[in-house]
Amino acid sequence: MSDCIFCKIAGKEIPSRPVYEDDLCYAFYDLEPQAPTHFLVIPKQHIACALDIDASNAAIVGHCYAVIAKVAKQLGIESYRVVTNCGEQAGQTVFHLHFHVLAGRDMTWPPG
Ligand code: 5GP
Ligand code: ZN
Repeated sequence: MSDCIFCKIAGKEIPSRPVYEDDLCYAFYDLEPQAPTHFLVIPKQHIACALDIDASNAAIVGHCYAVIAKVAKQLGIESYRVVTNCGEQAGQTVFHLHFHVLAGRDMTWPPG
């Protein structure tokens, strides 16, 4: 999608600090980290938010989680939190599906 910042990051039109890449997804460090380790995993395909996951694209979600586990192991991370904000009230600011991966500090529950 031409005006989507994460499509531009996946397409390297906007620079980012890469963590991992394959044909289906791209992982890069968050610009404003909320934990000592904070990276984002995005499908290369534009999906606006989690509400748009359906039978036609659900496989990408499993792929992203598998990538998260693989990258976590590569980075030596044994405990992490995965967050997807869906919609403005939940805190979504970029409307391209993404998985925040946060690690390296104690996490609170319930989240704020
Ligand atoms: P959301 O608020 O939609 O759940 O998460 C969007 C995330 O994208 C935020 O944590 C924000 O810091 C990050 N972000 C926004 N713009 C950029 C950017 O241009 N580069 C990178 N690396 N992260 C970004
Ligand atoms: Zn997009």
